[in-house]
Amino acid sequence: MQLDDLYRRVIMDHYKTPRNRGTFEDEAVTIDLNNPTCGDKIQLQMQIDNGKVKAAKFVGEGCSISLSSASMMTDAVKGKTIEEALEMADKFSSLMKGEPVEFEYEDIEALSGVNKFPARIKCATLSWNALRKGIEQSQRQE
Ligand code: ZN
Repeated sequence: MQLDDLYRRVIMDHYKTPRNRGTFEDEAVTIDLNNPTCGDKIQLQMQIDNGKVKAAKFVGEGCSISLSSASMMTDAVKGKTIEEALEMADKFSSLMKGEPVEFEYEDIEALSGVNKFPARIKCATLSWNALRKGIEQSQRQE
């Protein structure tokens, strides 16, 4: 139970003080996704250059799970290569299946409990799906 409390605190911290919230003034890959089952909406923007995610930002509205996940994701992929970012997205899918995985950006592990609530998995994966789509889009533009 203590562990759950710690996880909840990490999630609420990202929800109340989101990292990388906003939009870029410069050109950026932009992806809009929503999760109708919960009403979560997110717009993800990424600056991808030379096979690297230079920076990522998001705006959106929704539940604490979807928005904290977006905050963590945008922070975790910053400075990573596209391959590393996609690897992280795969790892996140494993986390949502209840598999024991570890992240360099440890806050993400706070969302591990979500796998016990199937209805909320879509909330947690929304931003990661946006990441995948954003990378696909950037590769088509090259
Ligand atoms: Zn949600």
